Amino acid sequence: LPPIFEPARPVLQKIEAAGYEAYFVGGCVRDTILGDPIHDIDIATSAYPSEIKQIFDRTVDTGIEHGTVMILDHGTGYETTTFRTESGYQDYRRPDHVTFVRSLEEDLKRRDFTINALALKENGEVVDLFDGIKDLKRHVIRAVGDPEERFHEDALRMMRAVRFASQLDFKIDGPTLRGIKENASLLQKIAVERIQVEFEKMFLGQKPAAGLNYFLKSGLYRYCPGLADSADKLGGLNRTFAGMKNINQVWALVTYILDLTNFAALTTFLKSWKTANDTIRQVKKILPLIEALRWRQVSAWMLYKAGWEAFADANRVAGVFNWQLPWPDAKEKYQRLPIKDARDLAINGQTLIKEAGIKPGPQLGKVLNQVTRSVVEGKLPNDKETLIKRAQEI
Ligand code: ATP
Ligand code: MG
Repeated sequence: LPPIFEPARPVLQKIEAAGYEAYFVGGCVRDTILGDPIHDIDIATSAYPSEIKQIFDRTVDTGIEHGTVMILDHGTGYETTTFRTESGYQDYRRPDHVTFVRSLEEDLKRRDFTINALALKENGEVVDLFDGIKDLKRHVIRAVGDPEERFHEDALRMMRAVRFASQLDFKIDGPTLRGIKENASLLQKIAVERIQVEFEKMFLGQKPAAGLNYFLKSGLYRYCPGLADSADKLGGLNRTFAGMKNINQVWALVTYILDLTNFAALTTFLKSWKTANDTIRQVKKILPLIEALRWRQVSAWMLYKAGWEAFADANRVAGVFNWQLPWPDAKEKYQRLPIKDARDLAINGQTLIKEAGIKPGPQLGKVLNQVTRSVVEGKLPNDKETLIKRAQEI
């Protein structure tokens, strides 16, 4: 058993001691065999949720209607899901009800790709019913069973194939890719929130251009919000660009490529993808900085207004086009700002009211803004007396 699973081993042993089967499954098995780091350990078991809750003192109902219970053990949570089949797929979407079963095989059969359908036993034995290990070695994403049927059951799997191609830098197997091409339009049936997750992961992967290439070639892009006419723009990205580090970078990159420099169009686009408002806010800060990096015209005032986080994100996105500042230079440029935040300024609105005799209102905001800008640009020292005097002259 790979060492990374050692701490979780007693959990499997305890389930087995109670007379049930239990396995590590899914991404953690796949990534371990690949030698990649894992983010979380998922367990599949023949025990029903109620049975799991009898075996362990500390559990959390994270998705009990789907058979998922989190077991808390020594400060770590393990998602534990009862073997299940997913019957009654309607409208190409994930079924709303699942059937618990006692057989591992049934559970592995309903999984999307062979590389995700591996189970690892507590004694280190791997259960590989669909040649998943061979596909891991060949670097291939292949549907479990008939691709057509599997994509009809759940059309999101087509997006998952493309995101795994990026995340793992794998090829999509011929028949599976054909299945995606022929069924791409079924993606319309899927909730945009679920597509969004896979689309983001595609750009966060190690080889985004590989995923993007499949995304375009298969026609999936046609059924995503606001992308129907964007194949040329998306396809124009260089073949080797590095993955993004967070979703704000992802959306900044996408909207930058699409030329959504107009904030109204940008907002409409991001809202159609149902991104968080915070993402929209950050992307609006990042986009002008990308353009400024491109022309080597990042001003102190822009930097101050956008803040370090947006600047670091912009610099990463600019790297896709080779416009980035070397990391130490970017850091230094920000560090050199005389003030980083309104709280760093020697005065504030209250000071201006009480000590400079300026009345509250729009004029106050204007004056404060001008003074701040002068300090940020190094035209005035950040000194209380000086700033009050200057404020009274405006
Ligand atoms: P990662 O966590 O690295 O993104 P993962 O393989 O763990 O990858 P999850 O989305 O966490 O992906 O799903 C866990 C497992 O559940 C998968 O490995 C797969 O076996 C199964 N699975 C997830 N979504 C689907 C789906 N839409 N259809 C069939 N099986 C799925
Ligand atoms: Mg996972």
